[in-house]
Amino acid sequence: MAEPPISFYPGPSQVWAAVPQYVQEAYEAGILSINHRSPQFEELAQKTKHLLHTRLSLPADYWVFYISSATEAWEILAQSLLKRRSWHFFNGAFGKKAYHYAQKLRPDAEVIAQAFPLNSLPQLPEKVEASDLIYFTHNETSNGTYLPSAILQEARQKYPEAIISLDATSSLGGIGLPWQALDVVYASVQKCLGLPAGMALFICSPAAIAQAEAFGLSTYYNNLISLRDNMQEWQTTHTPNVLNIYLLMRSLEASPQIVQTEHKIRQRAAKYYQFFEESLFQPLVSKPAYRSPTVLTLQGEEFLIDRFKKEASKQNIILGNGYGDWKARSFRLANFPAIADHHFKLLEDFTTNFPS
Ligand SMILES: *Cc1c(COP(=O)(O)O)cnc(C)c1O
Repeated sequence: MAEPPISFYPGPSQVWAAVPQYVQEAYEAGILSINHRSPQFEELAQKTKHLLHTRLSLPADYWVFYISSATEAWEILAQSLLKRRSWHFFNGAFGKKAYHYAQKLRPDAEVIAQAFPLNSLPQLPEKVEASDLIYFTHNETSNGTYLPSAILQEARQKYPEAIISLDATSSLGGIGLPWQALDVVYASVQKCLGLPAGMALFICSPAAIAQAEAFGLSTYYNNLISLRDNMQEWQTTHTPNVLNIYLLMRSLEASPQIVQTEHKIRQRAAKYYQFFEESLFQPLVSKPAYRSPTVLTLQGEEFLIDRFKKEASKQNIILGNGYGDWKARSFRLANFPAIADHHFKLLEDFTTNFPS
């Protein structure tokens, strides 16, 4: 079988090398044509959830729902959980998008933006009400920044009753999460989870479900109440992406515990941040504590970045473009678990030989 190019794009990203084998298996086992109300589907949903608990240390009483994208998660949050007021802490494009969705979908609510600069942490306000909804982005994929667990735990301590949500699209499956601090965690699968695009996980605590029930809105097909009612029977509100659920199940089965994965990802991140600091490019984020371990973002002269990306693509190495405000002056490298060490070695050799 021909090999695809080596992609360091932070999403859609390189998929697990075993994906073709898993797809073949799914086809042969008839998974691709099962009914989503059948016992086979229920078994698949149950098995996948069990693996999320054991591999990713997800607390036993959290719910897992299958939706189409992180974008859909922003809609679900605004529609099912934004009762009266939301707080949006962000420093880049994805956190900002979540804020815009909340504004547009809930013009009646008080939707508060708390933008913070690079190389800093969000400033947590003193007073947040029990029913308020808080939005954090774990790993801002657009600029390669990340929130250490301590700030999420601090938010939980300050606001024990508020609903705290976390966009973990480019970190879920790569680094561990302080679950007890979080009520909602969502992630599309085409980034850190190393799967084809077209599905996202929406994970939530009993407190989030209680808030959705108190709010009582169930007009949208993927409202939290209908999602919960269906998942109680190991089912979904609609025909889901069964193939992707199967791929998630198989890839989790083949993965170590998240602590082991995180250790490896952090080591590789440290190694390559250091490697690039000695190259023509510099990390966009100067404070190491706020640099993402899973999306390395490097800055440099526009013409150099342009040439670097072009030369790399001639070697079948695809680098991620910069994003939004940082588009021309940066490039991004995914450091996701599905990317093999020998692919990083090829990138390293290419960079070393790149004429300055
Ligand atoms: C890619 C990304 C999204 C959007 O994901 P979709 O699957 O396209 O909806 C949202 N948040 C973050 C942090 C992302 O990296």
